[in-house]
Amino acid sequence: MDTIRVRFAPSPTGSLHIGGARTALFNWLYARKNSGVFVLRLEDTDTERFIEAAAEGIRSTLRWLSLDWDEGPDKGGPFGPYVQSERKALYTAEAQRLLEAGGAYCCYCTPEELAQQREEARKKGEVPRYSGRCRHLTEDERQAKEAQGIRPALRIAAPSEGTTVVEDLVRGEVSFDNRVSFDDYIIMKSNGMPTYNFACVVDDHTMGITHVIRAEEHLSNTPKQSIVYRALGYPLPQFAHVPMILAPDRSKLSKRHGATAVEEFREEGYLPEAIVNYLALLGWSPGDEREVMGLKEIVSMFSLDSVSKHAAIYDVKKLTWINAQYLSNLPIERVVEVALPFYQARNLVSDHPSTPEMGYVTRVIDAVRTRIHTLVELADASASFFTEDYPYDEKGVRKHFTKDGVAEILARGRAALARVESFTLEETEKAYREVIEEMGISGGALIHPTRLALSGRTVGPGLFDIIVTLGQGKCLARLDRAIEFVKTCKA
Ligand code: GLU
Repeated sequence: MDTIRVRFAPSPTGSLHIGGARTALFNWLYARKNSGVFVLRLEDTDTERFIEAAAEGIRSTLRWLSLDWDEGPDKGGPFGPYVQSERKALYTAEAQRLLEAGGAYCCYCTPEELAQQREEARKKGEVPRYSGRCRHLTEDERQAKEAQGIRPALRIAAPSEGTTVVEDLVRGEVSFDNRVSFDDYIIMKSNGMPTYNFACVVDDHTMGITHVIRAEEHLSNTPKQSIVYRALGYPLPQFAHVPMILAPDRSKLSKRHGATAVEEFREEGYLPEAIVNYLALLGWSPGDEREVMGLKEIVSMFSLDSVSKHAAIYDVKKLTWINAQYLSNLPIERVVEVALPFYQARNLVSDHPSTPEMGYVTRVIDAVRTRIHTLVELADASASFFTEDYPYDEKGVRKHFTKDGVAEILARGRAALARVESFTLEETEKAYREVIEEMGISGGALIHPTRLALSGRTVGPGLFDIIVTLGQGKCLARLDRAIEFVKTCKA
């Protein structure tokens, strides 16, 4: 069998969003699953200008997600260049071939004339479509237009009757009524630039793309593109349109539904592992209840047969839950690697941490990382491990520091910790249990004020994880500070 070749073809106009990243991922998964080739192509002919920063942003986000491409810009490959604006000569040549074969024609209509045609159609209650006026120009009329110096656009000579059937690997056979699905649309603009539906076909063919996997939003472009394939004598690739991604209220996903750019999630402290895992579930499932899956596991199970026809619902809560799973369960070294910049940005850790500093950060992260959803939350929840000057949570103060006898309870806890010789989870916990028993108080009466004393917070890691992570010296000093503070609190 021929090598499977797929592509991701973003337009470099902005940052990579959830939808684009999901398309990239499904192409990448299909390539990796089938030992195929994943091509990255930048489609910039319909855009006003090539935005280098956007192109670089997309590339860097793909790299961050571990979606590496085998051919593409800055990588090269046998079918390059991989940026459409660098392939103009090819589109011009193919358009010329189509023109000569009668599959396309020159259109001299001015924007004003086209607007007028649209207006007339609107008045008649018809769908605006190109009237086909220039399709029937005689040679003399055409010459006359040329003589006026009008630079023509090229239009495809599309069938206006019958149906075009698209065979789709996800959606099955989809029929399009040729009378309403397209008109003689422009394939080359008068400025010599190809339009998306033409350039895309020429590229997919000349780049040897075997499977076009893209968002359902493009399904209506596929019959338009099929005409170009046929007119140019290219064999059709296989198509797979992956389902829409809708907001929880089933409306179109937009800014008002919160962050949708992958970069924003990166800044908020989501892990690439969690994002690709979540994206994979937008329209695909392994066929069982599994939800948390690494990329390798997903590759091994991925198939287009198990991609759903139904819209996927974008649910940030689920992404956040998956992120929390990765934060708790990935090897600690990996979490430290991704978390460190967040700690450095808050000046909790130095730019070039020493080995002991790294040891301490690692212990803190390991203690705090459960019960946390993002790296931003992780760094925030860790802040008091890195300063002696942390504030006490106000509600916590009212609840735990104003109780009768709390200074005494904290002092007894402090004395017990001071006596512990080997500062381990078991030994420190044993020391505290003894205080609780001796004083005849509830566990909470000692544990809650101690947590507030040691971290300034009422929630967080297990108390003995905090104690052991801080170490004996810091614990005693922090308890001293809290005991002084408690004395200033009024009941
Ligand atoms: N440039 C198009 C887009 O960004 C690509 C569509 C396609 O995959 O054919 O939506």
